[in-house]
Amino acid sequence: MEPRAAYSELLRRVAEICDLSSASALLSWDQETTMPKQGAPARARQLATIAGIRHDRFVDGRIGELLADCEAAPGKFEDIERTQLRELRHDWDRATKLPRSLVEETASAESSALEVWRDARAKSDWKAFAPHVRQLMGYSVQRAQALGFTERPYDGMLDDYERGADEERLDALFAHLRPRLTPLIGPVLERRGRVDSSCVRRPLAVEKQAEFGLAVIRAMGFDLDAGRVDLATHPFCSGIGPGDTRLTRRYDPNDLRPALYGIVHEAGHGLYEQGLASELRWTPLGSASSLGIHESQSRLWENVVGRSRPFWEHFLPDLRRNFPSEFRDVTADQMYRAVNEVATSLIRVEADELTYNLHVLLRFEIERGLFAGDIQVDDVPAAWGEKCGELLGIRPKNDAEGCLQDIHWSMGAFGYFPTYTLGNLYAAQLYEAAQRDLGDLDGLIAHGEFAPLREWLRAKIHRHGRRYLPAELVFRATGADPSAEPFLRYLHAKLEDVYGI
Ligand code: ZN
Repeated sequence: MEPRAAYSELLRRVAEICDLSSASALLSWDQETTMPKQGAPARARQLATIAGIRHDRFVDGRIGELLADCEAAPGKFEDIERTQLRELRHDWDRATKLPRSLVEETASAESSALEVWRDARAKSDWKAFAPHVRQLMGYSVQRAQALGFTERPYDGMLDDYERGADEERLDALFAHLRPRLTPLIGPVLERRGRVDSSCVRRPLAVEKQAEFGLAVIRAMGFDLDAGRVDLATHPFCSGIGPGDTRLTRRYDPNDLRPALYGIVHEAGHGLYEQGLASELRWTPLGSASSLGIHESQSRLWENVVGRSRPFWEHFLPDLRRNFPSEFRDVTADQMYRAVNEVATSLIRVEADELTYNLHVLLRFEIERGLFAGDIQVDDVPAAWGEKCGELLGIRPKNDAEGCLQDIHWSMGAFGYFPTYTLGNLYAAQLYEAAQRDLGDLDGLIAHGEFAPLREWLRAKIHRHGRRYLPAELVFRATGADPSAEPFLRYLHAKLEDVYGI
């Protein structure tokens, strides 16, 4: 076929596949927010059917022919179109390696495992969940092997979430981070008297917490006409499609921090989804560069902005409007300290910035042990307790606050956790660069002016979708290769400020 015509047909087909992905995303969102419990088996079936149809449409030989027609005439295309073809080729080559039966069975198994995980977590019963973990691990290995990672399937899983990541590189990264983080924990805990978080740990009406959270994400620029916020067991952000980005939240009626930083985090993801250039929507480039980059957006808003002193200088009056008596005598400086409290806790999503990456390391080590056969699924609770003790100095009392706390394994998402650490590192590096470009960013934030930062992120990161691979995107935005140093600088500065070390 004539290359331009082939290209148009390709994009038309990709757009249909995007629609199918949107439909599954919406069904999954519904499953987590509003679906009645007994709808679960039918939902598993619906998701499997769509996954199968989507897969069939995508691996259609016609797509391969059209791609080849385009690739034979690169001169007929502009840069951005050649990049579209590059990403489509990448995805198509991978998808054609996966048998349809594997795709369908995986989707169905994941949907069932999600329900079992929820119950198992409520009852703190790893044994009930373990067979599903074994089954999903099996599918993940088959998938990685089909994709060509025959020797080291875990590398294939890591690469699935962050292209270019593998066990060896991540091992080196954590080997660099760990000795720079763990020695700080003791001295910080010795100075724990410098932070009093009682001002945020008190009964706080959840409706008022919700209102304040909405005010914050509106100020960040999250567009509620193109998104919404609902309750769920696990906070997440789902980009259903253009004009429809959904966030979820949960509350702690006795602590301001989990709900506030949960929603700010998810809104950071949401801004990324909403900021994609309109011309890339429904195209191969129309999604995030990687999960690590996605996480950099959420962590940048949650931590670098949301846990800064200028943030509280600006938002404390708003908080007081919602809670006039509770925060009457609290200062911005007290808020700043309270939200930066370091405490060795068991729950990853509520961990402070010093210990968070150690929670990730714990999961990375369990996963690599599982896939290497060094840890058996039945022994995960014991291994978890041991590693948790070693890294954080505490041990969970039960599975719910240990190995059952995260949703990821119930979704077959092995190899996902390290992207959280990559996100933390990218976030600090991006913020440093934004500060360089925008001047007094702290001053802007103290005045509630979030648009310059948001627009900087939009121009440097959001609008590009998958145009650049993660490392290149970071390089283009910051002028440097991805590195752990900006994060370590940032963390040291904060610990010095808050804890005097
Ligand atoms: Zn996130």
